Amino acid sequence: MRMTSPCRRCGVPLGVSRNQRWMDNGTIVFSRDPTHRMVLLESENLDGIFELLEELVERPIEKQVIEGKSMATREFLKPLARWRGGWLAYLMSYRPAREYIADLSRVMGYGSVELLEVSPRFRRAERMTLRVRDVYSLPLVCGDFKGAAETVEGGTSRVDYLLEKDGSYRITAYRVSEEPPPSAENPIIYANRPGDIGWVRCRSCGVPEEVAGLKWDLRRGVIADGATGRRMAIFGPAGIERVFMELEREMGRPVDRLVEEAQRRHALTFLESGEVLESVGRLRKVLGMRGLGYLEDLEATSGAVSLRIANPCLRPLLIGFLEAAFEVALRRRPRLSWETAPDGDLILEMR
Ligand SMILES: [Zn+2]
Repeated sequence: MRMTSPCRRCGVPLGVSRNQRWMDNGTIVFSRDPTHRMVLLESENLDGIFELLEELVERPIEKQVIEGKSMATREFLKPLARWRGGWLAYLMSYRPAREYIADLSRVMGYGSVELLEVSPRFRRAERMTLRVRDVYSLPLVCGDFKGAAETVEGGTSRVDYLLEKDGSYRITAYRVSEEPPPSAENPIIYANRPGDIGWVRCRSCGVPEEVAGLKWDLRRGVIADGATGRRMAIFGPAGIERVFMELEREMGRPVDRLVEEAQRRHALTFLESGEVLESVGRLRKVLGMRGLGYLEDLEATSGAVSLRIANPCLRPLLIGFLEAAFEVALRRRPRLSWETAPDGDLILEMR
Protein backbone atom coordinates (compact mmCIF):
# COMPACT_ATOMS: atom_id res chain seq x y z
CA MET A 1 0.00 0.00 0.00
CA ARG A 2 1.13 3.52 -0.71
CA MET A 3 2.29 5.72 2.10
CA THR A 4 -0.60 8.10 1.38
CA SER A 5 -3.17 5.35 2.07
CA PRO A 6 -5.04 6.03 5.29
CA CYS A 7 -5.01 3.67 8.28
CA ARG A 8 -8.36 1.87 8.16
CA ARG A 9 -8.97 2.53 11.83
CA CYS A 10 -7.68 6.07 12.55
CA GLY A 11 -7.24 7.55 9.06
CA VAL A 12 -3.63 8.71 9.56
CA PRO A 13 -1.62 8.11 6.34
CA LEU A 14 0.40 4.90 6.60
CA GLY A 15 3.59 6.76 5.67
CA VAL A 16 3.39 8.50 9.05
CA SER A 17 3.18 5.34 11.15
CA ARG A 18 5.64 3.40 8.99
CA ASN A 19 8.35 6.01 9.12
CA GLN A 20 7.92 7.49 12.59
CA ARG A 21 7.47 6.06 16.06
CA TRP A 22 6.12 8.04 18.99
CA MET A 23 8.06 6.75 21.99
CA ASP A 24 7.05 6.80 25.64
CA ASN A 25 10.02 9.02 26.47
CA GLY A 26 8.80 12.13 24.67
CA THR A 27 10.72 11.51 21.47
CA ILE A 28 9.67 10.70 17.92
CA VAL A 29 12.17 8.53 16.08
CA PHE A 30 12.68 7.53 12.47
CA SER A 31 11.69 3.84 12.29
CA ARG A 32 14.64 2.71 10.16
CA ASP A 33 17.16 4.50 12.33
CA PRO A 34 15.86 5.06 15.86
CA THR A 35 18.89 7.23 16.71
CA HIS A 36 17.43 9.81 14.33
CA ARG A 37 14.96 12.13 16.05
CA MET A 38 11.96 13.74 14.39
CA VAL A 39 9.54 16.45 15.52
CA LEU A 40 5.94 17.25 14.64
CA LEU A 41 5.69 20.99 15.04
CA GLU A 42 3.64 24.03 14.19
CA SER A 43 5.46 25.09 11.06
CA GLU A 44 4.01 28.47 10.08
CA ASN A 45 6.45 30.15 12.36
CA LEU A 46 9.65 28.73 10.90
CA ASP A 47 9.96 31.25 8.07
CA GLY A 48 8.70 33.89 10.52
CA ILE A 49 11.63 33.14 12.83
CA PHE A 50 14.07 33.38 9.94
CA GLU A 51 12.54 36.70 8.87
CA LEU A 52 12.74 38.08 12.39
CA LEU A 53 16.40 37.08 12.65
CA GLU A 54 17.02 38.70 9.28
CA GLU A 55 15.51 41.95 10.55
CA LEU A 56 17.58 41.83 13.69
CA VAL A 57 20.87 41.26 11.93
CA GLU A 58 19.94 43.56 9.03
CA ARG A 59 21.09 41.22 6.29
CA PRO A 60 19.80 38.19 4.40
CA ILE A 61 20.29 34.83 6.14
CA GLU A 62 18.74 32.60 3.51
CA LYS A 63 22.13 31.23 2.48
CA GLN A 64 22.86 30.10 6.05
CA VAL A 65 19.40 28.53 6.41
CA ILE A 66 19.85 26.55 3.18
CA GLU A 67 23.40 25.59 4.14
CA GLY A 68 22.48 24.40 7.63
CA LYS A 69 19.51 22.39 6.41
CA SER A 70 21.41 20.78 3.54
CA MET A 71 24.17 19.72 5.94
CA ALA A 72 21.63 17.92 8.14
CA THR A 73 20.00 16.30 5.11
CA ARG A 74 23.34 14.94 3.96
CA GLU A 75 24.06 13.57 7.43
CA PHE A 76 20.66 11.92 7.47
CA LEU A 77 20.88 10.41 3.99
CA LYS A 78 24.46 9.20 4.20
CA PRO A 79 23.81 5.99 6.15
CA LEU A 80 20.74 5.26 4.02
CA ALA A 81 22.73 5.78 0.85
CA ARG A 82 24.90 2.85 1.88
CA TRP A 83 21.98 0.46 1.76
CA ARG A 84 22.34 -0.97 -1.68
CA GLY A 85 18.92 -1.78 -3.05
CA GLY A 86 17.38 0.38 -0.37
CA TRP A 87 15.19 3.34 -1.00
CA LEU A 88 17.96 5.35 -2.55
CA ALA A 89 18.16 2.97 -5.48
CA TYR A 90 14.40 3.26 -5.65
CA LEU A 91 14.70 7.01 -5.55
CA MET A 92 17.21 7.07 -8.38
CA SER A 93 14.97 5.62 -11.02
CA TYR A 94 13.04 8.54 -12.35
CA ARG A 95 9.39 7.51 -12.18
CA PRO A 96 9.35 6.05 -8.67
CA ALA A 97 11.43 9.03 -7.52
CA ARG A 98 8.68 11.37 -8.69
CA GLU A 99 6.07 9.43 -6.79
CA TYR A 100 8.22 8.99 -3.73
CA ILE A 101 9.01 12.70 -3.42
CA ALA A 102 5.40 13.73 -4.03
CA ASP A 103 3.96 11.22 -1.56
CA LEU A 104 6.53 11.81 1.16
CA SER A 105 6.05 15.58 1.00
CA ARG A 106 2.29 15.24 1.28
CA VAL A 107 2.44 12.87 4.20
CA MET A 108 4.99 14.97 6.11
CA GLY A 109 3.12 18.23 5.56
CA TYR A 110 5.71 19.90 3.31
CA GLY A 111 3.21 20.95 0.63
CA SER A 112 2.76 19.58 -2.84
CA VAL A 113 6.16 18.85 -4.36
CA GLU A 114 6.64 17.69 -7.92
CA LEU A 115 9.91 16.59 -9.49
CA LEU A 116 9.66 18.33 -12.88
CA GLU A 117 12.92 17.61 -14.56
CA VAL A 118 16.14 15.66 -14.17
CA SER A 119 18.83 16.42 -16.69
CA PRO A 120 20.43 14.51 -18.27
CA ARG A 121 17.82 11.83 -17.69
CA PHE A 122 19.69 8.56 -17.98
CA ARG A 123 23.12 9.53 -16.72
CA ARG A 124 24.37 11.21 -13.60
CA ALA A 125 22.10 14.22 -13.22
CA GLU A 126 23.57 17.70 -13.30
CA ARG A 127 20.39 19.63 -12.84
CA MET A 128 17.09 18.81 -11.14
CA THR A 129 13.98 20.94 -10.88
CA LEU A 130 11.09 20.79 -8.43
CA ARG A 131 7.78 22.60 -8.42
CA VAL A 132 6.38 23.25 -4.96
CA ARG A 133 3.04 24.60 -3.80
CA ASP A 134 1.84 25.44 -0.30
CA VAL A 135 5.39 24.86 0.86
CA TYR A 136 5.90 24.72 4.66
CA SER A 137 9.18 26.64 4.46
CA LEU A 138 10.83 27.72 1.23
CA PRO A 139 14.45 27.90 2.51
CA LEU A 140 14.14 24.57 4.36
CA VAL A 141 12.81 22.81 1.28
CA CYS A 142 15.64 24.38 -0.76
CA GLY A 143 18.17 23.10 1.79
CA ASP A 144 16.65 19.64 1.75
CA PHE A 145 16.76 19.53 -2.04
CA LYS A 146 20.37 20.69 -2.13
CA GLY A 147 21.41 18.06 0.46
CA ALA A 148 19.52 15.29 -1.35
CA ALA A 149 20.99 16.24 -4.76
CA GLU A 150 24.50 16.25 -3.26
CA THR A 151 24.01 12.85 -1.63
CA VAL A 152 22.49 11.20 -4.68
CA GLU A 153 24.65 12.78 -7.39
CA GLY A 154 27.83 13.74 -5.50
CA GLY A 155 29.70 17.07 -5.67
CA THR A 156 28.34 20.38 -4.47
CA SER A 157 25.06 21.83 -5.73
CA ARG A 158 23.57 25.28 -5.72
CA VAL A 159 19.86 25.99 -5.54
CA ASP A 160 17.90 28.79 -7.17
CA TYR A 161 14.19 29.40 -7.02
CA LEU A 162 11.66 31.31 -9.03
CA LEU A 163 8.17 32.42 -8.02
CA GLU A 164 5.69 31.53 -10.75
CA LYS A 165 2.54 33.49 -11.62
CA ASP A 166 0.32 30.84 -10.03
CA GLY A 167 2.07 31.22 -6.67
CA SER A 168 4.13 28.03 -6.93
CA TYR A 169 7.91 27.98 -6.78
CA ARG A 170 10.29 26.35 -9.24
CA ILE A 171 13.40 25.22 -7.38
CA THR A 172 16.45 24.12 -9.35
CA ALA A 173 19.51 22.38 -7.95
CA TYR A 174 22.55 22.20 -10.18
CA ARG A 175 26.01 20.87 -9.59
CA VAL A 176 28.62 23.62 -9.41
CA SER A 177 31.63 21.60 -8.28
CA GLU A 178 32.88 18.03 -8.00
CA GLU A 179 34.26 18.79 -4.55
CA PRO A 180 31.93 17.54 -1.81
CA PRO A 181 30.57 20.26 0.48
CA PRO A 182 32.14 20.60 3.93
CA SER A 183 30.71 18.08 6.36
CA ALA A 184 29.49 18.88 9.84
CA GLU A 185 32.21 19.25 12.46
CA ASN A 186 30.33 18.24 15.56
CA PRO A 187 27.55 15.68 15.57
CA ILE A 188 24.23 16.56 17.18
CA ILE A 189 23.59 14.03 19.92
CA TYR A 190 20.34 13.90 21.85
CA ALA A 191 19.82 12.29 25.24
CA ASN A 192 17.67 9.18 25.22
CA ARG A 193 16.44 8.44 28.72
CA PRO A 194 13.37 6.33 29.46
CA GLY A 195 9.94 7.77 30.09
CA ASP A 196 6.42 6.68 30.73
CA ILE A 197 3.92 8.75 28.81
CA GLY A 198 1.45 5.89 28.34
CA TRP A 199 0.06 6.80 24.92
CA VAL A 200 -3.37 5.51 23.99
CA ARG A 201 -2.51 4.17 20.55
CA CYS A 202 -4.40 3.25 17.42
CA ARG A 203 -4.78 -0.53 17.58
CA SER A 204 -4.06 -0.81 13.90
CA CYS A 205 -1.13 1.51 13.11
CA GLY A 206 0.12 2.44 16.59
CA VAL A 207 0.10 6.25 16.42
CA PRO A 208 -1.05 8.03 19.59
CA GLU A 209 -4.68 9.19 19.50
CA GLU A 210 -3.44 12.81 19.69
CA VAL A 211 -1.75 12.32 16.30
CA ALA A 212 -4.91 10.76 14.91
CA GLY A 213 -6.69 14.01 15.86
CA LEU A 214 -4.72 15.95 13.22
CA LYS A 215 -6.13 16.53 9.75
CA TRP A 216 -4.19 15.57 6.62
CA ASP A 217 -5.04 17.39 3.41
CA LEU A 218 -3.11 15.06 1.12
CA ARG A 219 -3.89 16.93 -2.06
CA ARG A 220 -2.10 20.04 -0.78
CA GLY A 221 0.37 18.35 1.55
CA VAL A 222 -0.90 20.21 4.59
CA ILE A 223 -1.31 18.87 8.14
CA ALA A 224 -3.54 20.92 10.42
CA ASP A 225 -4.09 20.68 14.14
CA GLY A 226 -7.73 19.60 14.46
CA ALA A 227 -8.35 21.92 17.41
CA THR A 228 -6.44 25.09 16.54
CA GLY A 229 -6.27 24.76 12.75
CA ARG A 230 -2.55 25.59 12.87
CA ARG A 231 -0.38 24.06 10.21
CA MET A 232 2.08 21.40 11.34
CA ALA A 233 4.88 19.42 9.68
CA ILE A 234 7.06 16.42 10.52
CA PHE A 235 10.78 17.00 10.12
CA GLY A 236 14.17 16.29 11.66
CA PRO A 237 15.12 18.74 14.42
CA ALA A 238 18.79 18.43 13.46
CA GLY A 239 18.12 20.48 10.32
CA ILE A 240 16.88 23.40 12.41
CA GLU A 241 19.67 23.00 15.00
CA ARG A 242 22.22 23.19 12.15
CA VAL A 243 20.54 26.33 10.84
CA PHE A 244 20.85 27.98 14.26
CA MET A 245 24.52 26.91 14.41
CA GLU A 246 25.20 28.35 10.95
CA LEU A 247 23.55 31.64 11.98
CA GLU A 248 25.47 31.74 15.23
CA ARG A 249 28.71 31.27 13.33
CA GLU A 250 27.80 33.96 10.82
CA MET A 251 26.63 36.47 13.44
CA GLY A 252 29.29 35.67 16.01
CA ARG A 253 26.81 35.42 18.85
CA PRO A 254 24.13 33.02 20.07
CA VAL A 255 20.70 33.36 18.46
CA ASP A 256 18.80 31.39 21.14
CA ARG A 257 17.22 34.38 22.87
CA LEU A 258 15.91 35.76 19.59
CA VAL A 259 14.48 32.40 18.58
CA GLU A 260 12.84 31.92 21.99
CA GLU A 261 11.17 35.27 21.70
CA ALA A 262 9.92 34.64 18.15
CA GLN A 263 8.57 31.25 19.19
CA ARG A 264 6.88 32.67 22.30
CA ARG A 265 5.05 35.28 20.22
CA HIS A 266 3.93 32.67 17.74
CA ALA A 267 2.78 30.14 20.35
CA LEU A 268 0.66 32.83 22.02
CA THR A 269 -1.43 32.94 18.87
CA PHE A 270 -2.61 29.33 19.16
CA LEU A 271 -2.40 28.27 22.81
CA GLU A 272 -5.69 28.48 24.59
CA SER A 273 -6.13 29.50 28.18
CA GLY A 274 -4.83 26.94 30.66
CA GLU A 275 -5.02 24.21 28.01
CA VAL A 276 -1.61 22.67 28.44
CA LEU A 277 -1.50 23.11 32.21
CA GLU A 278 -4.62 21.09 32.90
CA SER A 279 -2.38 18.38 34.39
CA VAL A 280 1.18 17.14 34.28
CA GLY A 281 0.00 14.21 32.13
CA ARG A 282 -1.55 16.60 29.63
CA LEU A 283 1.55 18.79 29.27
CA ARG A 284 3.64 15.62 28.98
CA LYS A 285 1.53 14.57 26.00
CA VAL A 286 1.56 18.05 24.43
CA LEU A 287 5.38 17.96 24.40
CA GLY A 288 5.67 14.24 23.60
CA MET A 289 3.32 14.42 20.63
CA ARG A 290 5.65 17.06 19.19
CA GLY A 291 8.74 14.99 20.02
CA LEU A 292 10.22 17.84 22.07
CA GLY A 293 11.07 15.77 25.16
CA TYR A 294 9.71 14.13 28.30
CA LEU A 295 8.32 16.20 31.16
CA GLU A 296 9.75 14.40 34.18
CA ASP A 297 8.63 16.73 36.84
CA LEU A 298 6.56 19.82 37.39
CA GLU A 299 6.66 21.46 40.76
CA ALA A 300 4.52 24.42 41.63
CA THR A 301 5.17 26.41 44.77
CA SER A 302 3.82 29.82 45.66
CA GLY A 303 4.45 31.98 42.65
CA ALA A 304 6.97 29.71 40.97
CA VAL A 305 6.83 26.71 38.67
CA SER A 306 9.80 24.52 37.93
CA LEU A 307 9.96 21.89 35.23
CA ARG A 308 12.45 19.21 34.36
CA ILE A 309 12.44 17.92 30.80
CA ALA A 310 14.43 14.88 29.70
CA ASN A 311 15.51 14.30 26.08
CA PRO A 312 14.93 17.91 25.03
CA CYS A 313 15.52 19.01 21.46
CA LEU A 314 15.27 22.38 19.68
CA ARG A 315 15.80 24.03 23.06
CA PRO A 316 14.98 27.63 22.10
CA LEU A 317 11.73 26.54 20.43
CA LEU A 318 10.82 24.38 23.42
CA ILE A 319 11.53 27.20 25.88
CA GLY A 320 9.58 29.77 23.86
CA PHE A 321 6.64 27.35 23.64
CA LEU A 322 6.59 26.72 27.40
CA GLU A 323 6.98 30.38 28.22
CA ALA A 324 3.89 31.12 26.12
CA ALA A 325 1.93 28.25 27.72
CA PHE A 326 2.60 29.59 31.20
CA GLU A 327 1.98 33.15 30.12
CA VAL A 328 -1.49 32.15 28.94
CA ALA A 329 -2.22 30.24 32.15
CA LEU A 330 -0.88 32.91 34.52
CA ARG A 331 -2.25 35.79 32.43
CA ARG A 332 1.07 37.55 32.79
CA ARG A 333 4.51 37.06 31.34
CA PRO A 334 6.58 34.85 33.67
CA ARG A 335 10.19 35.58 34.58
CA LEU A 336 12.09 32.69 33.15
CA SER A 337 15.43 31.08 33.89
CA TRP A 338 16.83 27.76 32.75
CA GLU A 339 19.85 25.54 32.83
CA THR A 340 20.98 22.24 31.37
CA ALA A 341 21.70 19.53 33.97
CA PRO A 342 24.78 17.28 33.57
CA ASP A 343 22.51 14.46 32.35
CA GLY A 344 21.19 16.70 29.55
CA ASP A 345 17.85 17.47 31.20
CA LEU A 346 16.47 20.97 30.71
CA ILE A 347 15.53 22.58 34.01
CA LEU A 348 13.26 25.59 33.69
CA GLU A 349 11.96 27.90 36.31
CA MET A 350 9.23 30.44 35.80
CA ARG A 351 7.99 32.85 38.43
ZN1 LIG B 1 -4.22 3.98 12.84
